[in-house]
This record gives sequence, C-alpha cells and structure tokens, in this order.
Amino acid sequence: MLGRPECPGSARTTEPAGTVTDVTRTCAKPGCDRAAVATLGYAYADGVVWLEDLAPEAHPMVHDMCRLHADTVRVPLGWELRDVRDQGHDGPVRLDLIGA
Ligand SMILES: [Zn+2]
Repeated sequence: MLGRPECPGSARTTEPAGTVTDVTRTCAKPGCDRAAVATLGYAYADGVVWLEDLAPEAHPMVHDMCRLHADTVRVPLGWELRDVRDQGHDGPVRLDLIGA
C-alpha cells in the first residue's frame, strides 16, 4: 500500500520534531508535487518574504517550494521579496518588477 498522507485544504505539517529523515521534500503549493529546491519564509513584523536555497530541515515556519513556484512567488502589496538563493548555477533570475 502506498500510504501517501495528503490533506487537501490544510498545509499544516504534523511531523514530530527531531526525526529528520532523508526524504525528498516536495513543493508546499497545493496540487504541486514537484521536488522542493527552495525555502520560502516570512517575517510578518517586517513585511518581508524571503527565498533561500532549500533548508536542510523542514520547519513549521517556512515552506518548501519547487523551482517553478519559487521563481513565480508574488508578495502582497507593500511586502518585500528577498531572493537570497545561490544563483550561480543557472543563469540570472529575472524578477517581475510590477509597475516599474
Ligand atoms: Zn510547486
């Protein structure tokens, strides 16, 4: 049996802390099951969203993203997106400058 825990409508992870295994993490976007390559985090107090290379451990405060969704992240009006991923391997990343 391929028991694959999926819970549509809820992005909550309920994994116990401290039991990190070498599993492939997938994108946190609903309906997307691509392999995660980046980690998306928020700093609500500062109005900042950041993207970084996939964190070594999943964390309840951040979201794993696949390449496609990491590259197309949009932030709410007034928020700042900081892309701090290592971009040395795959050409320049083009950011959408809305209304520039
Ligand atoms: Zn995705």
